[in-house]
Amino acid sequence: MTKKLKVIISYPPLSGEGTPLLSQNRQFQRFKEPTYIYPVVPASAATLLKEAGFDVIWNDCIAQGWTYKRFLDFIKQEKPDLIAFETKTPVVKQHWRIIDDLKNLTAYGLQLKTALFGDHVTALPEESLKNSKVDFVITGGDYDFLLLNVCRSMAEGSFAGLEAGIWYREGGQIRDTGKFKLDHNLNSLPFIDRDITKWKLYAYKNGNYKRTPGTYIMSGRDCWWGKCTFCSWPTLYPQFRVRKPGNVLDEIGALINDHKVREIMDDTGTFPVGHWLKEFCKGMIDEGYNKKVYFDCNMRFGSLSKEDYKLMKKANFRLLLFGLESANQVTLDRLKKNLQVEKVIEECRQARAAGLYPHITIMFGYPWESYADAKKTIQLGSYLLKKGYAYTVQATVVIPYPGSPLFQECKANGWLNTEDWSRFDMKEPVMKISMSEKETLKLVQEIYKVGLNPEFLFNRFLSIRDLDDIKYFTRAGKKLVGHILDFKNP
Ligand code: SF4
Repeated sequence: MTKKLKVIISYPPLSGEGTPLLSQNRQFQRFKEPTYIYPVVPASAATLLKEAGFDVIWNDCIAQGWTYKRFLDFIKQEKPDLIAFETKTPVVKQHWRIIDDLKNLTAYGLQLKTALFGDHVTALPEESLKNSKVDFVITGGDYDFLLLNVCRSMAEGSFAGLEAGIWYREGGQIRDTGKFKLDHNLNSLPFIDRDITKWKLYAYKNGNYKRTPGTYIMSGRDCWWGKCTFCSWPTLYPQFRVRKPGNVLDEIGALINDHKVREIMDDTGTFPVGHWLKEFCKGMIDEGYNKKVYFDCNMRFGSLSKEDYKLMKKANFRLLLFGLESANQVTLDRLKKNLQVEKVIEECRQARAAGLYPHITIMFGYPWESYADAKKTIQLGSYLLKKGYAYTVQATVVIPYPGSPLFQECKANGWLNTEDWSRFDMKEPVMKISMSEKETLKLVQEIYKVGLNPEFLFNRFLSIRDLDDIKYFTRAGKKLVGHILDFKNP
């Protein structure tokens, strides 16, 4: 390396009501009750850069509650060579303005380069280069490896070695290095440096944790199913890769011993199953990690047997996040969920019987669903919650993000009300649907109101086992009120 660059990985402050949740989420939402998800791939990027000898600073202004002025003052003071941040559809226009503000700081002696990464710019890389002064757009899901590659190229003063998947400017022209490749070896990554990435900012305010401090890891990248049409990830990051179970277990051991972590959420799109899962569970038990941490993950209905659930319980899995999306078979088939609705209740029961806690996600506002269809989803979600078969539920409005097959379907059928990206923030349906905006938001609120139902509360009361449960329910209660307000009609 010829020059020691200073690089800031940032989440700049954003305007708008509520705490925006950008990272690692298939969707974008703002929460009244703040919730923070540890951004695993950006944290991996910071770790790789540090190991390669760059001067790297982690700067999450959202999690730290910084004002925009404080952010700009910080940048003026630090004078980085490069600032990189993740963007998503509803905030990409804000990020363009922020980039232009940063590029105008030349009066303060800054010769700052900027980079964007994330799902929106992977779908539409050129758009950001045309609408802002951004210098680099990094596409694909391996943006930790690619950001390192950009920094090395900057340090060497040559773009000749840029990897595939990078868009940049040269001689006044927009150039790109071709389609990204997802062929990096995840087992070669160093374990994330939790300290330089300020992991404690994200260790407490997160509704998934029963016990804190908690943190996130990723055993794999992307999703082994990869077909749901509303999800942009299978199209944008189409290659599922997974680390070796032993490599993941070593990271868990380090989190327990070095950071005293008490709960870990794995944010792989869908957690690996089959032989991989068995080996992983065995390792959790053999190493005794099952006595020290709860483990949570994203899962799909129809992937696990009764025996799998039992083994996962033994390995101390707790929360399993399942995407139900709708109680209507026609919708599930259209979404390519590969899920039979009549099996959902039984699967939730099996998971609960093994001692696990299913969390269900549902959505409202499909262009082909009627109000009666949406009510069926409410009924199934409410039933699962009241009976205690599902532990928690998350309800959202369907948003067709660029890059998803649903977005293409919208374009082909003229379903979009707008292509103003800032309106894709789940505060309103952006597709033409049979229900009014008021009805849609009311439906989302309705499912959260089950949390006030006596049968639900009685079953929750019966499930209390320890002090952590009481603390968890107190936090969950606050979040519930927050969610009801999140979807209050404007
Ligand atoms: S299961 Fe479907 S929604 Fe979930 S990550 Fe995979 S493709 Fe996306």
